[in-house]
Amino acid sequence: MQQTLNTTLLIIGGGPGGYVTAIRAGQLGIPTILVEGQSLGGTCLNIGCIPSKALIHVAEQFHQTRQHSQHSALGISVGEPGLDIGKSVEWKDGIVDRLTTGVAALLKKNKVQVIQGWARIIDGKNVEVGDTRIQCEHLVLATGSKSVNLPMLPIGGPIISSTEALAPTSVPKRLIVVGGGYIGLELGIAYRKLGADVSVVEAQDRILPAYDAELTQPVHEELKKLGVKLYLKHSVEGFDSSSNTLQVREPGGDTLNLEMDQVLVAVGRKPNTQGWNLEALNLDMNGAAITIDSRCQTSMRNVYAIGDLSGEPMLAHRAMAQGEMVAELISGKSREFSPTAIAAVCFTDPELVVVGKTPDDAKAAGLDCIVSSFPFAANGRAMTLESKSGFVRVVARRDNHVIVGWQAVGVGVSELSTAFGQSLEMGARLEDIAGTIHAHPTLGEAVQEAALRALGHALHL
Ligand SMILES: Cc1cc2nc3c(=O)[nH]c(=O)nc-3n(C[C@H](O)[C@H](O)[C@H](O)COP(=O)(O)OP(=O)(O)OC[C@H]3O[C@@H](n4cnc5c(N)ncnc54)[C@H](O)[C@@H]3O)c2cc1C
Repeated sequence: MQQTLNTTLLIIGGGPGGYVTAIRAGQLGIPTILVEGQSLGGTCLNIGCIPSKALIHVAEQFHQTRQHSQHSALGISVGEPGLDIGKSVEWKDGIVDRLTTGVAALLKKNKVQVIQGWARIIDGKNVEVGDTRIQCEHLVLATGSKSVNLPMLPIGGPIISSTEALAPTSVPKRLIVVGGGYIGLELGIAYRKLGADVSVVEAQDRILPAYDAELTQPVHEELKKLGVKLYLKHSVEGFDSSSNTLQVREPGGDTLNLEMDQVLVAVGRKPNTQGWNLEALNLDMNGAAITIDSRCQTSMRNVYAIGDLSGEPMLAHRAMAQGEMVAELISGKSREFSPTAIAAVCFTDPELVVVGKTPDDAKAAGLDCIVSSFPFAANGRAMTLESKSGFVRVVARRDNHVIVGWQAVGVGVSELSTAFGQSLEMGARLEDIAGTIHAHPTLGEAVQEAALRALGHALHL
């Protein structure tokens, strides 16, 4: 027998987009139901951002300890370390557990009804979850994204996606990563530091092709130092399971056979639009993503799409910001999604941050800009962290010195994304950053120095 529930707001998907919408809606007193088919926290908490950063931390600790066991400039002596990867995964799972339990508690605190199950669309106001029909006034679609598969490399056995790579039972001897984007490189570097021989196959002529070459150069150099083999301008042709070899086409057209124990396919993600009868709504599409306006409204009234389902940039913090806004809109507030910039961070070694316009973006937008950078080689804090590579770069309008973009590459620069984002949202000028006293010794001093240098008077260069 079918039961029917009525609610003001129904959210499909409990990832960062969906659960943040629900928490904010609950705070605003909107009767809300959230449907999640798998685990609260979505890709981000369960198989994405958090598990990957946990594994990267394990890998870095292991790598550092191993380096000290061989030769330590710091004077540390330690024996050859061992690794119990099962325990590492348990530790990572503990973090995931704590976070997802926390999300459940926040939803409960804010009186959100969570229904476990797969939602199927009937129409813009009716959704089915098993035997339950839910009627709503507002529908938020937040079903996220899925890994893109390659037809010649179906996931299974030695062919894995990021999900399997984040829950290893052992470290493979030879790992080939297909795809030199941020997910492939974050995981490839982590596996290298855990002891695997890692090769990266990338169809384009450089790694992290979405970022400019000056910015990715220090990552390229570190890959070389770590012994990660790069096959640039190479594309995968096939896989021979009897000999465990991957066939790869060289730039000249010849085929190369690469021996491997595991292949990680990391060639991108696509909006999750299949299998839940989304077609019933006949929404306008923007390629594989749902078309949305500046209020995350789809082409159907009172139906919203947020997060990865609404296309690039597919980032957790964007999904959360959209979700918070949509809840406020539904409560009657006047809101619009118009961030000056959304930071993109690669947790590679070294880390990489891009916020706002790069020099190329500024040029393409017809802006006459000053571009200035400050190297970490001249930053004391970077040296105390044994890190000399990388830099902070600022892009500012020449006419009024308003900053339009920040980029950085170096150890620990992910944390600079906060300062970069704030300066852009607040419309800071070079003089504002140059005139702010930055604590010493910090990596942040390179931010101030980049602004000073743009004004023609860097102090430590
Ligand atoms: C390895 C990896 C590392 C990443 N690292 C970062 C990072 O460092 N920083 C960053 O910002 N982003 C990162 N991302 C991307 C980030 O995870 C996504 O941008 C984010 O999770 C998108 O949130 P979302 O709410 O749109 O969707 P998701 O998190 O994908 O959540 C969607 C949820 O909807 C549920 N669902 C789907 N269909 C239905 C249905 N029919 N009924 C019920 N439930 C349904 C799914 O089970 C899922 O839980 C990473 C991704 C991966 C894979």
